[in-house]
Amino acid sequence: MSRSRIGVIGGGPGGSSFALSLTNQGVDPRDITIVDQAHFPRPKLCGGGLTHRGTELLNTLLGGHPFGGGETRALEFRCAIGVVNVVERGPQWLYDRGHLDNLLLAECKRRGVTVVEGERVREITPRSDGFRVVTGPSGRDTAHEFSWLVGADGARGVTGRALGLAPGIVGRLIEAVFEPVSSQHDPSILYFDFDPILDGIPGYAWIFPYPKPSAAADGSLTVEPGLFKLGIMDGRGVTPGAELKRWTMAYAERNGFRLAEDKLSGWPEHYYAASTRAHVPGAILVGEAWGIDALLGEGIAPSIESAMYGAERLKQALDANTHVIRGYERGFQYSLPGRNLWFQEKLANLIYGPSPNRWLRVLFENPTLQQLAASGEEQYGRLAKTLPRLLLGFAGQVLRKGFPSNRPIALLPSGERGPTT
Ligand SMILES: Cc1cc2nc3c(=O)[nH]c(=O)nc-3n(C[C@H](O)[C@H](O)[C@H](O)COP(=O)(O)OP(=O)(O)OC[C@H]3O[C@@H](n4cnc5c(N)ncnc54)[C@H](O)[C@@H]3O)c2cc1C
Repeated sequence: MSRSRIGVIGGGPGGSSFALSLTNQGVDPRDITIVDQAHFPRPKLCGGGLTHRGTELLNTLLGGHPFGGGETRALEFRCAIGVVNVVERGPQWLYDRGHLDNLLLAECKRRGVTVVEGERVREITPRSDGFRVVTGPSGRDTAHEFSWLVGADGARGVTGRALGLAPGIVGRLIEAVFEPVSSQHDPSILYFDFDPILDGIPGYAWIFPYPKPSAAADGSLTVEPGLFKLGIMDGRGVTPGAELKRWTMAYAERNGFRLAEDKLSGWPEHYYAASTRAHVPGAILVGEAWGIDALLGEGIAPSIESAMYGAERLKQALDANTHVIRGYERGFQYSLPGRNLWFQEKLANLIYGPSPNRWLRVLFENPTLQQLAASGEEQYGRLAKTLPRLLLGFAGQVLRKGFPSNRPIALLPSGERGPTT
């Protein structure tokens, strides 16, 4: 039996950034235990792309640009009716997730946080003074007692389920590593194709460069050049996995790529909705266990943001000697990251909702949105503040060209694109 004041279930970016933020606020690292079922570095299915605000968050947490990754300079949104270039006010960073998550967890260990690896949480039982958590393969059980429990266990986490919290929309994703055969894709761009919508899949497909880490002869870390990750996100989780795999292989071939290693794998995503609950007395959810960006499925930056918020609120509760955090969900909803996740949720409801062709026409034909995207002054996932300007732009579009129709948009042969803005 082990006892600790704060037990964090999950050592991904949500769990490790929660622990780092808590120690930054003066909580003794010896009071924090992170439990993860995996041994790090562990594989994690992910495009590994951090939009610009994600790079800023990592910079804050680790005090610099972590080694062993890649960098891009823009995002490109594409579909049969057009191309929108998105230039943020700084670059995007890319990482292999096994490598990045290991760096973050190593920083927790360096600060003195206890990290228990290779123990799967199987049971969570509320007690009068906290929670009893049972880990381990059945037959080799270990019990842990925590006064506070933090669920940072991702899309398939047990904490939310055990506490009756955070049921939200769950998406379905497929991804693999590919290499170019005839592709001319620029490795300094992150590509997002909304063509799956034209085939009835409420989501998008991506092409990201993949900075695969490998050890050099002298033991130092290098990055293998020339690889890409391609995948597809069904933001409503309604398309069978076999159909998503078929679509991804056809997409890869159309774009001049072939499978480089392994096979196509799938993993769910859990999206943020303002209505979800993430707190019961003595326990909170952070990271993807609470929910991530519903539009593009960006999860690293939102997980770090909700973890930072959770750490701040938990520190206040520790100082006030209470197990109840009043307005935990509402407080986040009104914070800058919460407002933006709410905005992404609304956009996803439009683009992946009943009239997707109409909202694709707005996305790809609205001059205000295109100006904002290309300005080099904004950041993806930080657009909630531009809502009044976007609404005015939409009104202008309607006045000039009428209300955009939901008439089906045809997928062009061999994935050709409309004009670039
Ligand atoms: C195919 C795909 C592509 C993606 N691409 C991107 C991208 O390019 N950029 C981006 O920002 N986001 C991307 N995401 C989303 C991103 O990967 C996640 O949102 C992010 O990892 C969430 O971080 P987290 O720490 O909350 O959860 P996770 O990273 O999932 O970490 C949860 C941890 O909890 C542990 N755990 C789970 N259950 C238990 C248990 N019972 N007991 C003990 N430990 C447990 C797991 O081992 C894991 O280490 C992608 C997701 C998918 C599926």
